Amino acid sequence: MRLFGALEAGGTKFVCGVGTSPEDLKTVRFPTRSPDETIDEAICYFREEAGDALAAVGIGAFGPVDLDPASAHYGHITSTPKAGWQYTDLAGRVRNALQVPVGFDTDVNAAALAETCWGAARDVSSALYLTVGTGIGGGAILNGALLHGMMHPEMGHVRVPHDLAADPFPGICPFHGDCLEGLAAGPAMQARWGQPAATLPPDHPAWALEARYIALALAGFVFTLSPGRIILGGGVMQQAGLFDRIRGELSSVLNGYIRMPQVLTEMDRYVVPPGLGDRAGVLGALALAERAAKS
Ligand code: ADP
Ligand code: ZN
Repeated sequence: MRLFGALEAGGTKFVCGVGTSPEDLKTVRFPTRSPDETIDEAICYFREEAGDALAAVGIGAFGPVDLDPASAHYGHITSTPKAGWQYTDLAGRVRNALQVPVGFDTDVNAAALAETCWGAARDVSSALYLTVGTGIGGGAILNGALLHGMMHPEMGHVRVPHDLAADPFPGICPFHGDCLEGLAAGPAMQARWGQPAATLPPDHPAWALEARYIALALAGFVFTLSPGRIILGGGVMQQAGLFDRIRGELSSVLNGYIRMPQVLTEMDRYVVPPGLGDRAGVLGALALAERAAKS
């Protein structure tokens, strides 16, 4: 039996899994501490659970990460603000310790891949996955392949129209101020309204503004990437009613220009929650392991 190792490396927790498929993947989770302690714990888990049957490991990591195979820092977490983790060779350490092929990508690219393989986008060949949580990040599958480009998309940092009269909040992105993440991620909502996003009631004006910003960004992604489906995950999307508000705003921003049924009449099937729930990340790592074993 060939077993795959899956590692969702997050800034607050690591989720590790071992199995042959989503059906039998067993997982553990533990807090993210120093790179040495945390990576060693993951390596020990793969050794104990899979032993010699381990065929490959897939890693979906918080970023930014270096995905250029020609780079000296390939497989590293690079300029992260997370203390102690700058330029950590995550993929290299796992590969050296376990001596198996290692697939490596961002956490959102991994989640996008899993949703395309087994989740809410399994019936389309192009999809966008956007997570709205502590930060905002996006991954895209186009014609079955993950979009990488120069490094990887940083969709949370696009600019959206910001009407300072309607919303004087300056935004909190340390690089851009009022980029999408600076205006609309969970911490931005907390900073603007003085309370955690999760405690803002459904009729609070925060949600109309939030839906507007997300829809403005999504319209840009629809125009540039032409995804066949949009999956929205992350803590902020737990808010009941936000999906319908975003669908309505996206329709109004697109304004009938894209003459496709998906966005004209089927918006409730076009903008959807993750089909895999909070397993999307670790299942994406599993998909990366499967791909690494084949390559
Ligand atoms: P992370 O991005 O760190 O992986 P999450 O995706 O869970 O974590 O996002 C955390 C953010 O989501 C926090 O800013 C939190 O305020 C917000 N959040 C969590 N639950 C809800 C909720 N039910 N409604 C709105 N916002 C929420
Ligand atoms: Zn930014």
